[in-house]
Amino acid sequence: MASDLYKKLCKEAQNNKLNLTKKNFKTIRDIFKELSKELEIKAVKAKRKSLSERFLLDYKKSIDRSLKIVREELYKNNKKIILESAKYANEVQLSFFNTINNQFDLGLDKTFNVVFSKVPEDAIKEIIRGEMYKDRKGLSLRIWTDTNNMSKDIDYIISKGIAEKKDVYSLSKDLEMYVNPEAKKTFEYNKVYPGTRKQIDFNAQRLARTSINHAFFLSNIRSCKRNPFVEGMKWELSMSHHERQVIKFGPDECDDYAEQNEYNMGRGVFPLSELPLPHPQCLCSQYAVLSKSLEDIGVDLGKWVRGENNPSLDNWYKKYYLDFMR
Ligand SMILES: [Zn+2]
Repeated sequence: MASDLYKKLCKEAQNNKLNLTKKNFKTIRDIFKELSKELEIKAVKAKRKSLSERFLLDYKKSIDRSLKIVREELYKNNKKIILESAKYANEVQLSFFNTINNQFDLGLDKTFNVVFSKVPEDAIKEIIRGEMYKDRKGLSLRIWTDTNNMSKDIDYIISKGIAEKKDVYSLSKDLEMYVNPEAKKTFEYNKVYPGTRKQIDFNAQRLARTSINHAFFLSNIRSCKRNPFVEGMKWELSMSHHERQVIKFGPDECDDYAEQNEYNMGRGVFPLSELPLPHPQCLCSQYAVLSKSLEDIGVDLGKWVRGENNPSLDNWYKKYYLDFMR
């Protein structure tokens, strides 16, 4: 590890990511709570109506319209939070170099800003387009699939409600219960509509959590690749790994990653190009390994800025600064 500063920056970024995940949980909840409120109003309005085919058709249409809005909101929100997460990861390298730049008066602030400027946007493209996943499903298709399954559930609830000879009001209340993420489903409800999802926002929450983690991970790697002093990436198990994983289910691949020394770089350390993708819900973190101290890096950069020969920094400058400015 390069310095206490570097460790501190990594910790901060991890904490920012965790807080973002927590805050986002509520945002997604609220999107569905909003939908259930809308259906509650519909239920009250429908109180005196009779369950005609015409009515059901209109009713389903208006629910689908609301679901479309939910889908758009989820997509917009997801894009926003993954960019935020990617920025937190990129900030580690940028802040590190900005500190060195000021401490050693290097005059390289513009260079560093350019080198790291596009990292978050480029990293999240991989998620939005689905390039990083085996199934190649992009963000919008994932969200569409999820809300489309909700629409199918709603069709089923309506047809089942008809078969059970429910009146309009109780059917509407059932639909409201289905979309309300905080409703306790009654025994009666579960008996009438088996196989419908129990928790409306479950998949949306999981997708958001995983996307936040992956955006951070991808941005972290891209950003570390642009730090010429990074030698490798260390896989560090999360503090809760033992309790959440090992005690309950035994060790998983993360234990292997954290233990391995296949590259003779030290325990848990991978070359940048070999770092494996974390599994969904993984809470481990990956830190860049720098053997030079902040002072050594400052001195190296200082000599280079003043014209001393340093092919490695020349290459870095050409690849990430000059090529970008062209
Ligand atoms: Zn893990």
